[in-house]
Amino acid sequence: MNVGACTDKGKVRDLNEDAFVARPDVGLFAVADGMGGYAAGEVASRLAIEALVHVVEQAHAAPEARLREAFEAAHRAVRDEAQRNGASMGTTLTAVLMQGHQITVGHVGDSRAYLVQADGVTQLTDDHSLVAQLVREGYLTEEQAARHPQKNILTQALGSTEALSVDVFSLPLPPDAALLLCSDGLSNMVTSAEIAKIVHHTVDAQHAAQRLVDLANRRGGPDNITALVIKPSAAPARRSPPLRAPFLALLVISLLLGAAALGGQWYLERSFYLGEWGGRVAIYRGVPLKIGGVSLSYLEVITTLRVQDVLPAYQQRIQEGIFVKDLSDAFQRLKVIAAPQLKPKPKPPAQQKPPVTPKEAEGHGLPVSTLAR
Ligand code: CA
Repeated sequence: MNVGACTDKGKVRDLNEDAFVARPDVGLFAVADGMGGYAAGEVASRLAIEALVHVVEQAHAAPEARLREAFEAAHRAVRDEAQRNGASMGTTLTAVLMQGHQITVGHVGDSRAYLVQADGVTQLTDDHSLVAQLVREGYLTEEQAARHPQKNILTQALGSTEALSVDVFSLPLPPDAALLLCSDGLSNMVTSAEIAKIVHHTVDAQHAAQRLVDLANRRGGPDNITALVIKPSAAPARRSPPLRAPFLALLVISLLLGAAALGGQWYLERSFYLGEWGGRVAIYRGVPLKIGGVSLSYLEVITTLRVQDVLPAYQQRIQEGIFVKDLSDAFQRLKVIAAPQLKPKPKPPAQQKPPVTPKEAEGHGLPVSTLAR
């Protein structure tokens, strides 16, 4: 599987309140776009992604039931945090669970999932926004909606609206189709035709994600931008250094070690380490070495953990690469190296939670059901 992700705070915002997860090992991909003052959006999107990953990994139900359960858990996690801190916060969440050639989509908010094929792009998700609803009901045209001053008002978001109606549906993935998950910082700045062209014609998914984010930034980047590109049937990557590298590297390592090529491949394919990618901790397959400018590893998983949030003792080691036995060992190690404030805290007994009265809630800006960014 050829997966790439890029997130950027854009050219105007001080913080990046988007979050994403790419876990090809469990077939889970998601984008969340948090909202709320004083960095609350950053907390909301991260909490939602963490709850989603936790439930998808632990639950054994069928994909649709598992995603519904995960969205409910994410909703509760954000709402509980909002009540604890008396803050208005919420987040969108658009997730894809992939099992073979079948995908299940879960969706709340106005982040989007697109299916990209040779003949164009299909938006799989409906925006849960006021203007999108007015378009569906025939009161606004698409063009009017795109320029509407209230286009940021969501009709529902995880953690902020009391009742939640999660869109969950499954579909077979056509051969050679790619998926794009993105926040509105991308879809507001880049057209569907441009998405189709970039995703379809850029062989390397990581390069495609980077090109999409760069394009949104060149147009002003007024919002946080996240693009997650998934190409399930990895195309032959003749022009793509990240995919070509392991094969060249195998040849080099075989010659150097005087071993058979299959021996080198066997070793690299079964070696993993934790490293850095774009300021986040990432899991790489291979070894953290370059021979003759050729990397002996490639990116397997980009985590939500930022390098700056790793315990100081491990920050330098992340740059050098921390060897792990396998993928599951890698995820165990992430829990060890995360700074204590990021580790799950024991929940206080329910009766100790300070209840938020309607009066208090009123004191924190907009009514939560129309939380705007
Ligand atoms: Ca946004």
